[in-house]
Amino acid sequence: MRLSLGAKFTITVTIILVATIAANTFYFLGTSARFHEQQLLERGRALGRLISLVSPDAILGFDFLLLNRYTREVSAVPDVVYGVIVDAKGEPISTYIDDKDPLIKKQIDAAGSKDLSPLLQKLDGQSGLVRLQFPITSNNVVLGRFLVGISRQSLENEFRRQLIVQSMVLAAIVLFLSVAIHVVFRANVLKPINKLIAASEDVSRGQFTLVETKARDELGVLARAFNVMTEAVKREQAKLHRQANFDGLTGLPNRMMAFDRIKQEISRAKRSAQRFAVFFIDLDNFKNVNDSMGHAVGDELLIAIGARVQACIRDSDIVARLGGDEFVVLAPDIASDAKAEELAERLIKAVSEPQLLAGRKVVAHCSIGIAIYPDNGESMEELMANADNAMYQAKSTRDGSAIFFTAEMNIRLRERMQMEQDLNLAVELGQLSLNFQPLFETDGQRHCGAEVLLRWHHPERGAISPASFIPLAEATGQIVSIGDWVLEQACRNWAKWHNAGIDPGFLAINVSRVQFRRRLSVRLTELMANFRIPSHALELEITESVLLDDHSQVAEELRNLRAAGLTLSLDDFGTGYSSLSYLKRFHFDVLKIDRSFVSGLPDDLDDVLLVKAILAMAKGFDLKVVAEGVENHDQLRFLASQGCDVVQGFLLAKPMNEAAYSNFLRSRKVEVNASQTGAAQHGYATGRST
Ligand code: C2E
Ligand code: MG
Ligand code: MG
Repeated sequence: MRLSLGAKFTITVTIILVATIAANTFYFLGTSARFHEQQLLERGRALGRLISLVSPDAILGFDFLLLNRYTREVSAVPDVVYGVIVDAKGEPISTYIDDKDPLIKKQIDAAGSKDLSPLLQKLDGQSGLVRLQFPITSNNVVLGRFLVGISRQSLENEFRRQLIVQSMVLAAIVLFLSVAIHVVFRANVLKPINKLIAASEDVSRGQFTLVETKARDELGVLARAFNVMTEAVKREQAKLHRQANFDGLTGLPNRMMAFDRIKQEISRAKRSAQRFAVFFIDLDNFKNVNDSMGHAVGDELLIAIGARVQACIRDSDIVARLGGDEFVVLAPDIASDAKAEELAERLIKAVSEPQLLAGRKVVAHCSIGIAIYPDNGESMEELMANADNAMYQAKSTRDGSAIFFTAEMNIRLRERMQMEQDLNLAVELGQLSLNFQPLFETDGQRHCGAEVLLRWHHPERGAISPASFIPLAEATGQIVSIGDWVLEQACRNWAKWHNAGIDPGFLAINVSRVQFRRRLSVRLTELMANFRIPSHALELEITESVLLDDHSQVAEELRNLRAAGLTLSLDDFGTGYSSLSYLKRFHFDVLKIDRSFVSGLPDDLDDVLLVKAILAMAKGFDLKVVAEGVENHDQLRFLASQGCDVVQGFLLAKPMNEAAYSNFLRSRKVEVNASQTGAAQHGYATGRST
């Protein structure tokens, strides 16, 4: 049984009270009984002494009448049930017996006669009777005895009465004290404790009520301590709430809170049949800022952008930071697409306002994807995914633009997912193959090697360009196994040609940024050893995006590759985020000018200036230059005149499959042999014959 504190306390107090008061009462009753017994005896003795004092004369004078009077006098004394004067022989001379007394009556009834001697004998030993006898003497001669019997009946009655009265008094006192103590205990202890309990329960429910702290006793101290603790919990709770719902850097709501608010907005918009818009904002090339100016500056930029976005939205709109360089704006009550567009423009403008960071003017751009409820999704997840989707579309279209989500994007997304699945099987089903596009020295047009280009022959969709599936494979991580297959296959081919006595030149293999992070040097060293390939036979084409990763790790891996004797080529130079400092820092051997700059040669002034500048700079850094995408003689002549080292392009040779490249190599061999005998000069014509 569970007893409350109040019940336990009251029961304990009641037991203590009952025990002490009862002990006290019994002690009092005992003392009082002994006192009364003493009095009874005193009374008997006084009577005895009186009778034995007055009786001798009457006995000596045989005055029985007087003796009878004496014994009658005895009967008047309360509680005396018999008084008998006997002579020296013990014969009764005068007798008084109260035969109405219950004890006497009982003995007479038992004996069946009122004979004195047997009656007195019977009464002997009765506990309800005090029996006394006093000698009656005259001049030291015993004349007889006075026998007196005093009943304890009234004494016992009195004791019983006292007991009842005392018990009732005891019960009343205990009851009163218990109630009084309980009331005082309740008011002074239970009530404050109950308040503390209620306040504690409130805290566990997340409500913070303070309790009264007026009392100066221990409960007052406890209440004050409780209040201090509650304040601390409240502060801690607020801190946790901030950490859980707000972004530590910008102070804006975070991903969690943004998702919550979108869900709330969905419920609201559903009830009121309204539309609202979600803007997914992603900064363009933010990593570049981080890499070139440091993370502290990157953080500063994010804070500034967060504040600017916040400033350009309405009070009812919400901006949150999803993490990294991603923000989301939730705009309730967007009546029309035009209004959403207006806001997107404002956001783009706000983000791209120049900002002075670490003494440098920084201009950030962003891409925005817009999803409208309910048109582009009825759940938070759907809206976010579609806004994200649209943002990616915006990014691939043009930096610093905003795009509405369209159903078409969903189709593209599904296609992408399908392609991802198909790509998983591509290696297994032998749908991948390698093409080789020959490279030529610009001065003598001597064939010097080939770029290895991946091909995917999809059973339904036909040939799929690497430009469309490599980025997907990079995003999904499939590039690791695919890239590994390319490396192995390229090495296998080189060894095969070499073993067949054909010089394949060097093979330039494209490697992805993702592969690069997986200890590429270890794998390549292994392959070169397995296939016995000299290091100068392999060149690695790396795009600038590789350099955007952790610099120290990239630098180390590049050092390892160089140590293994591999040639390093910076592909698509000029299209990405190249900074001249990269060239100096990472020690490339080759720069590959992207074909977008070659296409305008030699008429487009911009391309001419750019290619000239690249070539001049490359010379300065002692780098070899390869130009790709050479499609006509004018381009080739220009490049040759400017001192470009190697050329690649459809003019000279298109990418060809393994068999075709074998034939190409064989024909070159024949040609070289012929040229060695002075019979022929090699030219572009052979290169093109694929
Ligand atoms: P890239 O490394 O810049 O390769 C050169 C691309 O230019 C190749 O396209 C090639 O066919 C094309 N090309 C060469 N000469 C001409 C020309 O005269 N005119 C025109 N219009 N195009 C020319 P491809 O084979 O479609 O490859 C596209 C991109 O895919 C490559 O660009 C490379 O970045 C990537 N890639 C190809 N194979 C691999 C691979 O095995 N691994 C990785 N990671 N990426 C690869
Ligand atoms: Mg390449
Ligand atoms: Mg290229």
